[in-house]
Amino acid sequence: MSLDLPTPAVALAIGAHPDDVEFGAGATLAKWSAAGCVVHHLICTDGSKGSWDPTTDLAELVVTRQAEQRDAAAALGATGQCVFLGWPDGELDSGLRQRWEVAYWIRRLQPTVVLGHDPWKRYRLHPDHRHAGLLAVEGVVAARDPHFFPEQQLPHHRPDALLLFEADEPDHAEDAGGFVDAKLAALHAHTSQLRSTMFIDHTAPADEVRRQRQAFDDRVEQRLRDHRTGEPVERAEAFKLIDRL
Ligand SMILES: [Zn+2]
Repeated sequence: MSLDLPTPAVALAIGAHPDDVEFGAGATLAKWSAAGCVVHHLICTDGSKGSWDPTTDLAELVVTRQAEQRDAAAALGATGQCVFLGWPDGELDSGLRQRWEVAYWIRRLQPTVVLGHDPWKRYRLHPDHRHAGLLAVEGVVAARDPHFFPEQQLPHHRPDALLLFEADEPDHAEDAGGFVDAKLAALHAHTSQLRSTMFIDHTAPADEVRRQRQAFDDRVEQRLRDHRTGEPVERAEAFKLIDRL
């Protein structure tokens, strides 16, 4: 297990849905932001399936989730952009069209480090997470080579490293100590997801809401503790590191 990349100048985190980046790498991005890194978010889908309520106004949900994503980025201390590609939730593909868009944003934002879902995680069910992961990987390849998509008229750009979260075979840890609260605050900013993703039911009595919120925070923190590498790193986010790009 390698530990802690040098703080990048610019990071681009690519998620399938609003909230994926915070789950996968929130503490790492908060840590880098605090050290002066410009953190950008690129969200591939519109998040329009993120509700258990069959009567939800989906157009409104999309707007709400974009605002929540911006709030979450702010909670991490991120100073970069939140870019929304707006593909329909649940229908993301990793075709040429989508790869073109991801490569375009990598070239525009010129990240030192790109973060994304591990597309090769075994037994992963959600197709958007798999496709978003492939887009991060294949977007890097297209962005770094000058003869891909020359009509973009942007200089090609080769990041130094790619970090895959939810990794099938993690081999790199980022110390999350001191940034657990920022990660939790960013996750809680996704208010529309409290029920379906975090199992916090705001219509329950206040005591019960508090208990559910604590249970969620405990689960997140336990996951960080599972990746600890030992003294002095007691909480960590784990990744697959690809640094020969
Ligand atoms: Zn997701």
